[in-house]
Amino acid sequence: VPVLHNIARLATCGGGEPAGELRTIERAALAWRDGVITWLGRERELPAELASEERLDAASTLVVPGLVDCHTHLAFGGYRFDEHSERIGGKSYLEIARAGGGIRRTVRETRAASEEELLEKARGYLQAMWQSGVTAVEAKSGYGLSLADEKKQLRVYARLATEEPVRIVPTLLAAHVVPPEFVEDRAGYVRAIVEEIIPDVAAEGLARFCDVFLEEGAFSRDESRQVLEAGKRHGLRAKLHADQLTDGGGALLAAEVGAASADHLEHASQEGIEAMARAGVVAVSLPVATLYLGQPPLQARRFLDAGVSLAVATDFNPGSAPCCSLQLAMLLACLLQRMTPSQALAGATLHAARAIGLEREIGSLEVGKRADFVLVDAPSVEHWVLETGVNRIESTFIGGERVWSAE
Ligand SMILES: [Zn+2]
Repeated sequence: VPVLHNIARLATCGGGEPAGELRTIERAALAWRDGVITWLGRERELPAELASEERLDAASTLVVPGLVDCHTHLAFGGYRFDEHSERIGGKSYLEIARAGGGIRRTVRETRAASEEELLEKARGYLQAMWQSGVTAVEAKSGYGLSLADEKKQLRVYARLATEEPVRIVPTLLAAHVVPPEFVEDRAGYVRAIVEEIIPDVAAEGLARFCDVFLEEGAFSRDESRQVLEAGKRHGLRAKLHADQLTDGGGALLAAEVGAASADHLEHASQEGIEAMARAGVVAVSLPVATLYLGQPPLQARRFLDAGVSLAVATDFNPGSAPCCSLQLAMLLACLLQRMTPSQALAGATLHAARAIGLEREIGSLEVGKRADFVLVDAPSVEHWVLETGVNRIESTFIGGERVWSAE
């Protein structure tokens, strides 16, 4: 039973209301067995039977739960930085897309890439993530858009999940955009997703969630509902890219189908937000994409006041959010969305865990949860979240094992 002692401040992120403050314990210790937390509290109250156990010195650091990045597009072919330069030069997102750029370009480049190429590239980013404190990552397909190519992306996630220590939750996003070979037959593509791709992927256990990009230029509300209902019939919980560029009724649909989360939501209606609160749908805010696309930011207060769980994630992808730093997303959640550092941390831990259905296992430091935690060389959560440009992560632990250390 290892005991981590000499913790200056332990931010547990346990329980509490969505807008509530963090529970922190000063001068704390933390014990675990077989990767599961068995005790935590003030060090001077450490039970006698733990006093003689193996000790690890936290060196008077801040300890927080492992960060959970609950929305990424981790595996992809190519990059699209030249398109960003074109946007700076004055071209619109739509002009670039019509000229063959945007998501469809990444689809071409992902289809052309081998599984090994996708794997090694994604592995590099995954390592950068856990070096900055991330211990669980949701990862979407959606750049294959055919049964074989969606499975190629999802197999990359299955392999990373077994080869690397970080927890990976795979999501099928076959309904990202309509692929070029189906532009004249949208209904045919939706049928292929419902009748072929979802059943096959679910039968092989390659995904836990089914996601749809509900937006003008992507999928309509009716098409989204068909795909999400089909996913549910095959045991895949719903997620939704909703109300990012326009109010497409995504928040309402997420509530209607009982989605685990609705993501983006910059343009969500008040009615939609209230429906999400009643249905217990987590709102996932993605401020990095907001920043890169020059969109008006999500107003956190509207969600928190309505009682919605509000998560923060990167949306890591090669176009609108080329950023795998969840810490930067937390900072932007504070600066753009008016969240407090405590709310941003809860959003990147407990609420993020809810968004991927793992709130019973991870997302906070409580007895019975996994010993996924991070040692931070900063005097307070505020200091760590609001400062940028320095990686203050000392060590990352997953299941009680140190997987990375700054030394
Ligand atoms: Zn996304």
